[in-house]
Amino acid sequence: MMLVDSHCHLNFPELAENLPHIKQAMQQNNVGHALCISVTLPDFPQVLALAESNDNFFATVGVHPDYEDIEEPTVEQLITLANHPKVIGIGETGLDYFRLTGDLEWQRTRFRTHIRAAVACNKPLIIHTRNAAEDTLRIMREEGAQQVGGVMHCFTETLDVAMEAISLGFYISFSGIVTFKNATALKEVAKHVPLDRILVETDSPYLAPIPFRGKTNQPAYVKHVAEEVAKLRNIELDALATATTNNFFTLFKQAKR
Ligand SMILES: [Zn+2]
Ligand SMILES: [Zn+2]
Repeated sequence: MMLVDSHCHLNFPELAENLPHIKQAMQQNNVGHALCISVTLPDFPQVLALAESNDNFFATVGVHPDYEDIEEPTVEQLITLANHPKVIGIGETGLDYFRLTGDLEWQRTRFRTHIRAAVACNKPLIIHTRNAAEDTLRIMREEGAQQVGGVMHCFTETLDVAMEAISLGFYISFSGIVTFKNATALKEVAKHVPLDRILVETDSPYLAPIPFRGKTNQPAYVKHVAEEVAKLRNIELDALATATTNNFFTLFKQAKR
C-alpha cells in the first residue's frame, strides 16, 4: 500500500525544523510522496529546495488568496518559476471569502492570473475555495481552467460543487476535516464523489486528523484521512490508497513515481 499527501506546507517552520523525523514517519506509514505547496513568492525557493533535495517531494508555485498586501505575481513570473521538472502544479490559488472580507476584487484578479499561467504552461491548478464556491467555479469556467484541470484542495463544499468541479476535469481532495465528528455533510460528500476523482491530503501543519486533532499535522497522518474515507465508502484502505495514488499521478503527469 502506498499513499500520497497531495497538499502540505513542509517549508513552514514547525515542519521544516523536523524534517528527518517527518520523512521517517512517512516511510513508516507508507506515505510515499508529498506535494509541497507554495503560498507566497518569497517562500517559493524553500518549497522548491525541498523538492530538489528529496526524490519523493514535488513542488508548486503560487500565491495564496489569504495573503493581502504582498508581492502580486504576474502570469509571466509564474510561468518562469514553474519551468522546472519538479514544479508540477500552479497554486495554491483561489478565493477565500471566509478569512477576508470587503472588496476582494484583488483576490479574483490574482486567481485569474494563476489560471492563465496554468493554461499557458499546461500544469494543473491547486485551488483553495472557502465561502466562495459560486465565484470560484464561475472564474474557473471564464478562464478555461478545464484545459488543465487540477484539484479542489481541502474540500469542504457540497456534492453539487464537487460534481461541477469534476465536470471541469478537477479532482476533490479530502483533508483531516473529514475525520472530525461534526463534519456530517462532508462525510456524505466523501461517500458519493467518484473514486477515480478523489485525492487525500493533510494541509499540514494545519488540520491534523483525529486522533491528532489540535496537534501539529504532518504528511504521515494522511493515512488517517484515507482510513476515514475508506471506512465511509465501505472499502478497504488498500483500495482507497491505490485509487488515490493512481489519481495523483494521473492528474500530475509530470510527477514521476
Ligand atoms: Zn488552502
Ligand atoms: Zn494549503
